[in-house]
Amino acid sequence: MMQLKCRDHGFTCDFEAEGDDVSMVIERFGNHVSLEHGIKFEKETLMQLMLGDLCSCPYCNSRFESKQQLSKHIDRIHHGSGILEGNVRDI
Ligand SMILES: [Zn+2]
Ligand SMILES: [Zn+2]
Repeated sequence: MMQLKCRDHGFTCDFEAEGDDVSMVIERFGNHVSLEHGIKFEKETLMQLMLGDLCSCPYCNSRFESKQQLSKHIDRIHHGSGILEGNVRDI
């Protein structure tokens, strides 16, 4: 059984794609992420996400060694007050 969970990849979302067919799981997850989160993943990226050897930011494609680092990055950079707002406040 292969599975991909939104929650494991930095999304605040309960969606899970699972099944025995790798390409089907990748396709379902890819469709969901592009429809619900507006992010397009390459097939190879999805494959690596599923194999668990890559933690890449779905927003900016930065790569991290662990899921903890990735989720810290997403919290700080993408779920924070917003990059633009932050810049305005600093000025
Ligand atoms: Zn999702
Ligand atoms: Zn990022």
